Amino acid sequence: MTEPTVFQLSSPGRHGFDVPASDVPDFTLPESFVRQDLPLPEMSELDVVRHFTHLSQKNYAIDLGFYPLGSCTMKYNPKINEVTSRLPGFANTHPLQPLDTVQGNLYLMYTLQEWLKEISGFAGVTLMPAAGAHGELTGMLIIQKYHKDRGDLKRKRILIPDSAHGTNPASSAMIGMEIVPLSSDARGNVDLEALKALCDENLAGLMLTNPNTLGLFDEHVEQVIQLVHAAGGLVYGDGANLNALLGIVRPGDLGFDVMHFNLHKTFSTPHGGGGPGSGPVAVCQKLVDFLPDPVISVVEAGTEEVAPLYGYAHPAKSIGRVKTYHGHFGMLVRAFTYIAMHGTDGLRDIAEKAVLNANYMMHRLKSTYTLPYNRTCMHEFVLEGVWKDLPGIHALDIAKRLMDYKFHPPTNYFPLIVHEALMIEPTETESLDTLDAFCDALLKIAEEARTQPELLHDAPHNTPVRRCDELKAAKDLVLCCYPLEELQK
Ligand SMILES: *Cc1c(COP(=O)(O)O)cnc(C)c1O
Repeated sequence: MTEPTVFQLSSPGRHGFDVPASDVPDFTLPESFVRQDLPLPEMSELDVVRHFTHLSQKNYAIDLGFYPLGSCTMKYNPKINEVTSRLPGFANTHPLQPLDTVQGNLYLMYTLQEWLKEISGFAGVTLMPAAGAHGELTGMLIIQKYHKDRGDLKRKRILIPDSAHGTNPASSAMIGMEIVPLSSDARGNVDLEALKALCDENLAGLMLTNPNTLGLFDEHVEQVIQLVHAAGGLVYGDGANLNALLGIVRPGDLGFDVMHFNLHKTFSTPHGGGGPGSGPVAVCQKLVDFLPDPVISVVEAGTEEVAPLYGYAHPAKSIGRVKTYHGHFGMLVRAFTYIAMHGTDGLRDIAEKAVLNANYMMHRLKSTYTLPYNRTCMHEFVLEGVWKDLPGIHALDIAKRLMDYKFHPPTNYFPLIVHEALMIEPTETESLDTLDAFCDALLKIAEEARTQPELLHDAPHNTPVRRCDELKAAKDLVLCCYPLEELQK
């Protein structure tokens, strides 16, 4: 089923606007400013609205259904976040306005920094990074500069557990670090013996996701951190899974030195479709001087009658700027709203319900699907999407068949250390009915795998696009709405 493009719908002379008669003299733009060959569709306003509304209804979204995408924390995005982020005082300010005209915005950013410090147990925060991966890059630049600043120049090795998200090695490699994979033990923890063997004077640090991407809390996390510190390295915390810990454990208290938050995961700012996200980075006391410049701070203390004056602090050994202005401000307003609405007890409740939901589903599914790391999970768990006696069925078939049951598939083929992985994260926002309906669908699919395997192989059956050639889709991606003939002219 191919949708007509706006070019096919175009009809010469049709338009969706009326410009009032000009009351200034005509001016002809210089020839070089005008592209004569630019093909633009000509449509009425109504046709444009219908076309894009129609397309949007073919999309799957968190507002339409369950989205158990492991590692992504696809929780409901409360609509109040959209109301506050659109308030004119937030939405219409310019980052170059004089500071005395944007005190409310600075107050919001300062307070959010303080809240994130309190939630995570760290001493300083930057709100600048655009997303988690950008936070990783920022954090790794800080670690690199910390060693350089101490004249400790040979520390280039970054250890990354084999369960890590691909962005971890990518962010380290981008700044010239040497990546060394670290194996996991049989219970899904960091392998302590493997770690000990790699702790020497070349060690710059370790990037650790805790709970890790298997949804497991590392049982020796403090020992892991101590080993790295004893060897002179720093520990980076990938905070993508913070949802499981909110209000219960603070990574800073465990000894982590740097960590990023994914506001678009833990704190409900919308994500998918490429952003915008937000990936603030928190650091321990000895790293605050290296934070990106500027950090929002109180420049003049307030009194009982007068509000404090907010402005910029410039960390002494800053790694510099990592983003224009202050990052994605609209996301900061949404996260601020979310935290303010939940309060201290509410945040803890989030973590407890997310973990309860994941364990409930894991228990319903683990006798039908193989659970390779069989212990209490945190906010997510990983199953194998394959059975020994059914070699023709793969995780991909199960994922595609779920779409026929109107569910977004879970993350699959990640983490890499689980064979045919199906990584399921329910989040705290789903009802028991939804969790049960999803488990019922997965159990039904397991039955179909035995009785009608072709149903899985040919799935999905009733989506706007059927099964794609995944390799071609990745390697030969066409995102342009221009007809190919136009482009090739
Ligand atoms: C999502 C995620 C990242 C990357 O975060 P982005 O905001 O998508 O850039 C890194 N690590 C883990 C474990 C993640 O789940």
